Amino acid sequence: MQTQPTASHFINGQYVEDTAGEEIPVIYPATGEVIATLHAATPAIIEQALTAARTAQKEWAGWSGTERGRVLRRASEIMRERNHDLSVLETYDTGKPYQETSVADATSGADALEYFGGLAGAITGEHIQLGDDFVYTRREPLGVCVGIGAWNYPTQIACWKGAPALACGNTMVFKPSETTPLCALKVAEILVEAGAPAGVYNVVQGYGAVGAALITDPRVDKVSLTGSVPTGKKVYAAAAEGMRHVTMELGGKSPLVIFDDADLENAVSGAILGNFYSSGQVCSNGTRVFVQKGIKEAFLARLTERLKGVKMGDPQDPEVNFGPMVSERQRDIVEGFIAKGKDEGARLVTGGNRVDRDGFFLEPTVFADVTDDMTIATDEIFGPVMSVLDFETEEEVLTRANATEFGLAAGVFTADLTRAHRMVAGFEAGTCYINTYNDAPVEAPFGGSKLSGVGRENSKAAIEHYSQIKGVYVRMGDMEAPF
Ligand code: NAD
Repeated sequence: MQTQPTASHFINGQYVEDTAGEEIPVIYPATGEVIATLHAATPAIIEQALTAARTAQKEWAGWSGTERGRVLRRASEIMRERNHDLSVLETYDTGKPYQETSVADATSGADALEYFGGLAGAITGEHIQLGDDFVYTRREPLGVCVGIGAWNYPTQIACWKGAPALACGNTMVFKPSETTPLCALKVAEILVEAGAPAGVYNVVQGYGAVGAALITDPRVDKVSLTGSVPTGKKVYAAAAEGMRHVTMELGGKSPLVIFDDADLENAVSGAILGNFYSSGQVCSNGTRVFVQKGIKEAFLARLTERLKGVKMGDPQDPEVNFGPMVSERQRDIVEGFIAKGKDEGARLVTGGNRVDRDGFFLEPTVFADVTDDMTIATDEIFGPVMSVLDFETEEEVLTRANATEFGLAAGVFTADLTRAHRMVAGFEAGTCYINTYNDAPVEAPFGGSKLSGVGRENSKAAIEHYSQIKGVYVRMGDMEAPF
């Protein structure tokens, strides 16, 4: 497959290059080879992108919601038709196995385009009768939105931000992560092919500095970031200077609580999906696995057995189900956490090593006897490292589950219906699961509380975050004034 794109950026309906920008080497994580070289946006490229988005916005907002929605739905169909090629590219960009990318990336992006395409015609204001007078509200677009992506789901993030933004009549300038810059260009291409006017969805490449330049430009009305908490704090503060709207999808250290009465096989499946899918590089992962003492040993034994089913190798091979870390840097960071886990006295149950092959592979790793204060239990690792902690009572585990500055997700496995709902009511997290983990359909809101973020993506809730309400008072009779 041709992995070198036509040019680095996609602006105003076409590919654009400026080789004066800093080089961005794109590395295939499964081999360490450079598969493309792009250039970060220069000030001239940023200017072009923002001008294009600003200019296109008025016309785009002037289309009816149904017309905008038709473009999004057409784009979703094209994405589904090209799912194979888009999945291969996603695998080159991220190193995630094709077995995953073929069902979780372009397909998830297509879901978002289809869902928000369907909603676009139903985005309306309301009528409030006040005697003879009345108020009506107009739900209006914000204007130009900047989207900034993380590297773990480059196609999905480009669509999860783009689809609701465009449905509401905004335009977008999207900056992918410098680690995975390829996939968003395809989203931009497809939207134009589906009939989006030039300038409605633009992609510019770059490191953090390009993101920072975009969000402080006075022409920008909203910033939606998917990234780490430290970056989120910077971006939120910069956006606040211009009183811009924000959505922050940030990191987590989410609890997954397994009670004695849970179906063991399902609980093990939940823990595997919630820790090792995408080699653990998922923000909502349930990396603090609290297991009630009665089933702890059975859980660990079954988990170890099931991990024998891991198949590492060339991620493009559809039989392979476990890929490398996205980058050498990320592998080094995760290895540092594994060393800390050992130093601080956690029991290494399985894994913990680099794999002897090219690329940035690490074994799926499980630590048991982890205590709340250990670094591997407090810090987001963003790699295939599961920490298993013991607990005795419901009250105790809820307090410990919430004892974190993060609040992205939380899950519970139990056969006790009322306990499941009690736990969910008590979790300080934006996205919760009962007897499952990490499902993220577009119909459900997704996002975090506490340091994990602000706002929600997906579902009808996303419409609130990409539009604003204008209230209009209409007097039917004469006006009174005191003098
Ligand atoms: P990161 O914070 O390093 O970078 C995210 C993006 O922000 C990149 O595109 C980067 O170039 C840009 N950026 C960096 N500094 C910036 C600045 N000062 N101004 C503007 N933009 C800037 O995150 P990452 O390493 O790419 O991704 C991993 C993190 O993302 C993890 O913490 C993970 O939990 C989080 N994440 C969250 C979600 C979610 O939906 N909540 C989803 C995926 C990943």
